[in-house]
Amino acid sequence: MTLQFPMLVDGAWVPSSDDRWINSHEPGTGEVWAQIPAATEGDVDRAVMAAHRAMRSGPWSEMTASARGEALVRLSELVSGHASVLAEAETRDTGKLIRETTGSVDYVPAFYRYYGGLADKIQGHTLPSDKPGMEIFTYREPVGVVAAIVPWNSPQMLLAVKLAPALAAGNAVVIKPSEHGSIPILEFGKLVEQAGIPRGVVNIVTGRGDPVGNVLTRHRLVSRIAFTGGPDTARTIVRNSAENFASVSLELGGKSPQIVFADANLDSALNGIVGGIFGASGQSCVAGSRLYVQREIYDDFIARLIDRTEQIRLGSPLDPDSEMGPLATREQLGRFDLYVGSTPAEGGRVLTGGGRPVEPAMGWFVEPTILETHAKGIRAQEDEIFGPVLAVTTFNDQADAVEKANATQYGLAAGVWTSAVERAHQMIRALSAGIVWVNTYRATSPVAPFGGLRDSGGGRESGADAVYDYTSVKTAWINSSDEVVADPFKVQ
Ligand code: NAD
Repeated sequence: MTLQFPMLVDGAWVPSSDDRWINSHEPGTGEVWAQIPAATEGDVDRAVMAAHRAMRSGPWSEMTASARGEALVRLSELVSGHASVLAEAETRDTGKLIRETTGSVDYVPAFYRYYGGLADKIQGHTLPSDKPGMEIFTYREPVGVVAAIVPWNSPQMLLAVKLAPALAAGNAVVIKPSEHGSIPILEFGKLVEQAGIPRGVVNIVTGRGDPVGNVLTRHRLVSRIAFTGGPDTARTIVRNSAENFASVSLELGGKSPQIVFADANLDSALNGIVGGIFGASGQSCVAGSRLYVQREIYDDFIARLIDRTEQIRLGSPLDPDSEMGPLATREQLGRFDLYVGSTPAEGGRVLTGGGRPVEPAMGWFVEPTILETHAKGIRAQEDEIFGPVLAVTTFNDQADAVEKANATQYGLAAGVWTSAVERAHQMIRALSAGIVWVNTYRATSPVAPFGGLRDSGGGRESGADAVYDYTSVKTAWINSSDEVVADPFKVQ
């Protein structure tokens, strides 16, 4: 019998109101392993109404900021205590390796702790009034009901960077996980009540983008939409937000460059390149999917890279020894085939990989793939594939590297490998991306803002400032003078 995971609406674990379910596949086998509710429009409305009620009256609306912070710290401890269940749920549902989900779930508590600590440091200001007798000050109030929309590739981490600041600021939240990664979020949701977060403050509605995401992002009582996903969905959401004028943050895709200078520590660079594109099977928004290697070291470095790539151990995501798992959805297989298949006709060449592995025979596996893309106009070099495909070419000097790296509509991240400190600083300034990593790649932290430019979206998650995105400023004026205003028609 297939496992069924109900969703969380107004403190109750429920099926959809018409009892329809969506199959969730296990990418490691390609088989259905569980079902999630296909929420209806009415279910989404009930979840938003519950969040709205929880904000306006009841225990959450009366809780002090310090008490909210303590609840978030308790939540972080509960996540730590349930890490193995949460990691396994994410691995089975998304196909991400258990070694990766374990590492990521072990780090999730740090985000709840960090924002728990910030909850009672969200302050307004007393303003230096320019009008005698008039006092002016500001409050930072919760913004309202937050819609948190999460993709499948790292669901619990990408939820934490939204939920933790939203709750720290006193909001209530309706979460819409991806239909390909809902179960780890539903497992996490079981911990919310145990942390002492009152009923209705956190709701989880599952189902497809249409209707669930559409109804949620158009709902009149939603005040903020925090979205991570692809650019096409982002466009729909921005259009939907014209219905409710919710503020929107967008964390979108990327085609991030990695640049290896001849003066770099090449052993470190090799590891950084391999992890940057083949980690999470390339299904990471910051995947370093374009590689530029300085001409004089190109042949040797690429030969070493091919050698290491061909040794990557593909295997079951639940096996702790596997180094690369499957793609998360069957559709992703088609995308891989399309881009790799069209490369030779567009002037590129497959250096390694490009097909399905012999082993594992089951599941949605592809080979880690390197394409040489010296020519212009090769689509695998330009578009986000969201798979283990690395496009490599050369550069001559620093200016050439910057020009090539910046020739993209995306602007999420970039990696630079060099041992020259002045070059590192020059490259950080010259690269057009929200994050630049030097001699490291894919590092994240609750303290460090994360986000991109242009088609990579414009939001910044993590870091102390992100909490203010979940507040609105109220300005208060108090006239403390005894003087009666003589002219009621003159603006004071
Ligand atoms: P997606 O855009 O297809 O889906 C993301 C979420 O949006 C899912 O929950 C989906 O159900 C929901 N959705 C779909 N249609 C909707 C609609 N009309 N209204 C509201 N919600 C809707 O993305 P995906 O395939 O799940 O994830 C892959 C994408 O996410 C890639 O482009 C990747 O780069 C990006 N991503 C970005 C970051 C980042 O922080 N910048 C992190 C991870 C993934």
